[in-house]
Amino acid sequence: GKGTKNQEDNLEWRELPVNKRLEYALVKGINAFIVEDTEEARLASDRPIEVIEGPLMDGMNVVGDLFGSGQMFLPQVVKSARVMKQSVAHLTPFIEESNSGISKSNGKIIMATVKGDVHDIGKNIVGVVLQCNNFEVVDLGVMVSCENILKAAKEHNADIIGLSGLITPSLDEMVHVGREMQRQGMNLPLLIGGATTSKAHTAVKVEPQYKNAPTVYVADASRSVSVAADLMHTERRQLLWDDRKEDYEKVRIRTANRKPKSKPIAYEEAINRGFDFDWNNYQAPTPTIDGVKVFDDYPLDEIIKFIDWTPFFITWDLAGKYPNILDDDKVGEAARSLFTDAQAMLKDIAENKLLTARAAIGFWPAARIHGDDIEVYSNDRQESIATLHHLRQQMAKVNGKPNHSLADYIAPKESQCDDFVGGFVVTAGIGVEEIAKKYQDNGDDYNAIMIKALADRLAEAFAEHMHLRVRKEFWSYASEENLTNDDLIKEKYAGIRPAPGYPACPDHTEKATLFRLLNAEKNIGTELTEHFAMTPAASVSGFYFSHPDANYFAVGKIGHDQVESLAKRKGMSITELERWLMPVLNYDPK
Ligand code: SAH
Repeated sequence: GKGTKNQEDNLEWRELPVNKRLEYALVKGINAFIVEDTEEARLASDRPIEVIEGPLMDGMNVVGDLFGSGQMFLPQVVKSARVMKQSVAHLTPFIEESNSGISKSNGKIIMATVKGDVHDIGKNIVGVVLQCNNFEVVDLGVMVSCENILKAAKEHNADIIGLSGLITPSLDEMVHVGREMQRQGMNLPLLIGGATTSKAHTAVKVEPQYKNAPTVYVADASRSVSVAADLMHTERRQLLWDDRKEDYEKVRIRTANRKPKSKPIAYEEAINRGFDFDWNNYQAPTPTIDGVKVFDDYPLDEIIKFIDWTPFFITWDLAGKYPNILDDDKVGEAARSLFTDAQAMLKDIAENKLLTARAAIGFWPAARIHGDDIEVYSNDRQESIATLHHLRQQMAKVNGKPNHSLADYIAPKESQCDDFVGGFVVTAGIGVEEIAKKYQDNGDDYNAIMIKALADRLAEAFAEHMHLRVRKEFWSYASEENLTNDDLIKEKYAGIRPAPGYPACPDHTEKATLFRLLNAEKNIGTELTEHFAMTPAASVSGFYFSHPDANYFAVGKIGHDQVESLAKRKGMSITELERWLMPVLNYDPK
């Protein structure tokens, strides 16, 4: 049901004694009165530090217990952290004056998103949750080199290092950090977290490199506190370490013994078993625009309608599908409150143009060559201007099912069919860093995380909206299409927009070609890091395929024969290519 009265409207708690009011405000995450209450408590105490050590700590302990026992959820905890930070910020000048020293923290943790990666929502959430539990967090930000992480750990005399990352190249960077920690003889525990990380990755790739101290995979923000607390405690640290060592060894044995369900087939054979199509009797649709089209300052109102809200709740660790999640027995109340706040901020973003959305889309004549490459031509089809390299499934298939490659959705050069390929980069992240920083400087992690989460949603929604316009207007092969937003989320449209780095095209380096074709840096201000993460982070890129049979699929694991062929075609060494494709190799490169 809806009827929960807004907590901020019911002011009975304002009658409580000031220490109880502080505790209440913390547990409920209400920051409306926090400065005046903090001031009142300060004046009533002998030393300002007592306000922190008394009611604020009591309140945070309640929050920690409720969160730990699943009675409180992440958005509420982050709101409580905001109350805490704003109260402490008010007290800090007085504490420095009376020189009484801040209470001892539970431990100091260095946090960083690794080199080449720009995604920090998850890292920031973990940082807030740890701070709530009286850990001191030194946040080094994003794109932090191994060298700077280890230097900071030494300078700050840190107790723990926490690494975060979202894109697959970050996995290898984390292995590198582990290896360096071993080489330099460091003995700090290493925490591994982020969307593409996993227990398997930590067990198989990271832990074997770093033996001096516990290496621990942390599945989500709520686990981080108990792990960090254990690591700060001599005996519990050893127990946790023994436990993880045993667990990870089991994972390694299981992984080593895992036989592929069926033997992979040779790359040449996989090409021969590709998706087969009668191209000579097919008329490919012709785009209505030549080359690249740029959109600046795209109306946000048109984008908002296309938001898929389910992933937004996942970002905040609330599980459930939108809109049902709003009425969920367990997380419904937290989800509704979060959603209300999101709507208010979205309105502010749109009305006051806080974020700028830009897009570059393009269409080029194209033909499939050499099995898995797509040659891209100038508008008159006279000149080759780029080659897109794709990967092909090598798993053995039954019932004559094809071994897919995205290249198969483009007409072969030797066919009679004149085909096209498209590409896009969209961003909704222009301006987001400045706004997030302002919130953060004000002790407001809740809104700092919120604006980033919403920018991500807007970028995905923009990609969805632009793809719709492509199908109906710019490539105009589906002008009659009439799908609901739910249908779009379920990918019921004709044609696809696969994204480099995703399962059908797991090679992130292909983004370089896409960005060059679209002149994305100059046209819309999006760039690639050395590991092919897009900046701003709230950006989405991909290819457009119009073929009616085109579907999303997963390439799965590929063999050395395919890597060899691809290295030759891309003009890259096998060793370098293996680094980029590590997560999809069906062998251990040595
Ligand atoms: N509605 C979701 C959309 C993101 S996931 C959201 O708002 O977050 C869907 C997109 O991811 C697709 O449009 C495509 O660009 C990409 N994608 C999904 N599966 C893919 C695959 N197997 N290979 C390549 N790209 C894929």
